[in-house]
Amino acid sequence: MKRKTGQDRSVTSKWRPATQAVRGGSARSEWGETSEALFLTSGYAYDCAEDAAARFRGDQKGMTYSRLQNPTVEMLEQRLALMEGAEAARCTASGMAAMTAVLLCQLKTGDHLVAARAMFGSCRWLTDTLLPKFGIEVTIVDGRDAHAWKAALKPNTRLFFLETPANPTLDIVDIRAVCDIAHEAGAQVVVDNAFASPVLQRPMEFGADIVAYSATKMMDGQGRVLAGAVVGTEDFILNTLLPFTRNTGPTLSAFNAWVVLKGLETLDLRVMRQSDNALKIARFLETRVPRLLYPNLPSHPQYQLAMRQMKAGGTILSIYLDGGRAQAHGLLDALELVDISNNIGDSRSLMTHPASTTHAGLSEEVRMEMGVTEGMLRLSVGLEDADDVIADFDQALRAVGL
Ligand SMILES: *Cc1c(COP(=O)(O)O)cnc(C)c1O
Repeated sequence: MKRKTGQDRSVTSKWRPATQAVRGGSARSEWGETSEALFLTSGYAYDCAEDAAARFRGDQKGMTYSRLQNPTVEMLEQRLALMEGAEAARCTASGMAAMTAVLLCQLKTGDHLVAARAMFGSCRWLTDTLLPKFGIEVTIVDGRDAHAWKAALKPNTRLFFLETPANPTLDIVDIRAVCDIAHEAGAQVVVDNAFASPVLQRPMEFGADIVAYSATKMMDGQGRVLAGAVVGTEDFILNTLLPFTRNTGPTLSAFNAWVVLKGLETLDLRVMRQSDNALKIARFLETRVPRLLYPNLPSHPQYQLAMRQMKAGGTILSIYLDGGRAQAHGLLDALELVDISNNIGDSRSLMTHPASTTHAGLSEEVRMEMGVTEGMLRLSVGLEDADDVIADFDQALRAVGL
């Protein structure tokens, strides 16, 4: 008989990712609601004192406190694990809470981490500023160069940490090659997959051990809430991540989890359409600016690798102007439809100047090493008609003499 409430994972795990994004993890209450219920509660009541004791001992299933468990958050966690083809997932209050927890839950004084240099600005703050404070050694490498990962290995290397495509330079890391190097040395690999989303790239298929997300980006997809997630083996999630997050408390709110659940239902549609729009806009911009980077154009130095790992080019592109900050800011100010905003993954097209915003906290030396120059602009392509975005760029480029 078809079950009307709850879900049997042995059945649901057979569904394809686009089905998981709509239905994975749904657990209906006794009311049989079609849309997931929003459980705004911080605590749970017990039928008797012995039930409370049993639940705290772990002898009885059930929830005890929303820093530890919440039905709405749990639906999102199960959906994300199913979409990724992973054993388990846990959500956090933001993408940075996920990245911080992933690193601090398993690294200790004396351990060594190797990280790619082209990463989200706050991820570089974790590797360059936070971890060294606790005596954790960090080596930064050019993530595109597999030999550099290998050369960085030390006897105490515990983790590799990377992002691909990377923000905002769109560097591509060969996930399979880098995972093979790590595993041979007994290290594990964490991939920040926020840019691609599980629709375009599932890093575990190439050997990644842990995948971390800013769900604020494509997963919400409409610029409403902050959220994060960590996906991995049941052993890692239950025995390494959970003791850290349950006690330190970077918990995702039930409301934000519910918003992301709704966002996931349209994730496949949005990512594919926004990637189509990005390709169309990139082809136009390439004829008008000195240099453009988009993973799905043959002009991208790692085009072949990008297209082996990703189902489409993604929603982000970067352009480089010759006129430095003045011309870059001039272009931003001349845009009428595209918003000036440092967020990404929204249904609205958003553009930012990384050197003076998202990556302003890094030293100029680090920015130059990463390729974040004064003439660089990053565009997050939305769901508008691509021709309207192209028309907006056409007039704005003219305004700055291009
Ligand atoms: C946005 C982002 C983060 C941080 O996520 P928040 O939800 O803003 O905390 C981390 N990594 C990448 C690649 C991002 O784009």
